[in-house]
Amino acid sequence: MDVVTSEPLRGAPVAKAIKADVRAAIAKAAEQGLAAPHLVNVIAGRSAPSLAYLDAIDRTAAKLGVRTSRVELPGDASEAQIVAAIEQAGSSSDVHGLMVQFPLPAGVSRAAVVDAVPLAKDVDGLSAAALGQVFAGRRMHVGPATAAAVVELLMSDERCMPRGKHVVIAGRSLVVGRPLAAMLSAGGGVDADATVTLCHRHTPDLAAHTRIADIVVIATGVRGLLKPEMVKTGATVIDVGIHEVTRADGSVGLVGDVDPAVGEVAGLLTPVPGGVGPVTNAVLMRHVTAAAYPGAVAEAW
Ligand code: ADP
Repeated sequence: MDVVTSEPLRGAPVAKAIKADVRAAIAKAAEQGLAAPHLVNVIAGRSAPSLAYLDAIDRTAAKLGVRTSRVELPGDASEAQIVAAIEQAGSSSDVHGLMVQFPLPAGVSRAAVVDAVPLAKDVDGLSAAALGQVFAGRRMHVGPATAAAVVELLMSDERCMPRGKHVVIAGRSLVVGRPLAAMLSAGGGVDADATVTLCHRHTPDLAAHTRIADIVVIATGVRGLLKPEMVKTGATVIDVGIHEVTRADGSVGLVGDVDPAVGEVAGLLTPVPGGVGPVTNAVLMRHVTAAAYPGAVAEAW
């Protein structure tokens, strides 16, 4: 058997194309005298990973001309306080996109909080209404950005075009796996037309599914879960996992849900970092821009 050494499916070129589209839409709107898109982030408490994520969003936004601001609440804010903050920001005509950071304070209902975000401004796509749009096949730029980023990556390369392929997704979260299954199985127009199998922690034999997949998407939050013997030679592998690791020299790095040895079996493989992450940020900017100027950016999830 030939040994296949995988090729990296990098996020940067895909993110770059999305950002170019966003930049053009913002420049055109500015010529017409429209205000720049404005993204508001609501955060309760000071979780370090959330703050780092918000800093990354702010940096990407600043480069594109998207305005960002934060509503910072105390770590013990009540559900009523958080919902009120979301409703206040949501009702402002100067706010185009609105998202909430997790974790929420103990005892606060995630559903109550995400459902307080108005559908048209739900650029992170976590409300039941936004997920409903995704499942109904309506590309309103309010779907979950990470799932949309996986679709963008797959549709960016002839070799992993999902149409007619068998995609096996591991992980059924509402952030990634379930909306992604809906996006990839949707038909018609610019859709993916894939055959999708959705696996999760109660799937008795994950390997039996992943081994027959043309494309494996792994979003389980389990470091190194996907091993080489679980992947068909030449298959495309999309790694959605993000785990911080401390290397022998004390430096901190990122790894995914895919065992590095999968690189000896897979065809295309997204690196961590540098795969799904940069595309997710770009998609979020596209969502905010689409929310500000309906119809101004390409049709997509
Ligand atoms: P993410 O944000 O990456 O989607 P979550 O923690 O929200 O992660 O969800 C993890 C998902 O991964 C769940 O749907 C869970 O069923 C799935 N999962 C966890 N462990 C395994 C496993 N060993 N095999 C298959 N799926 C798994």
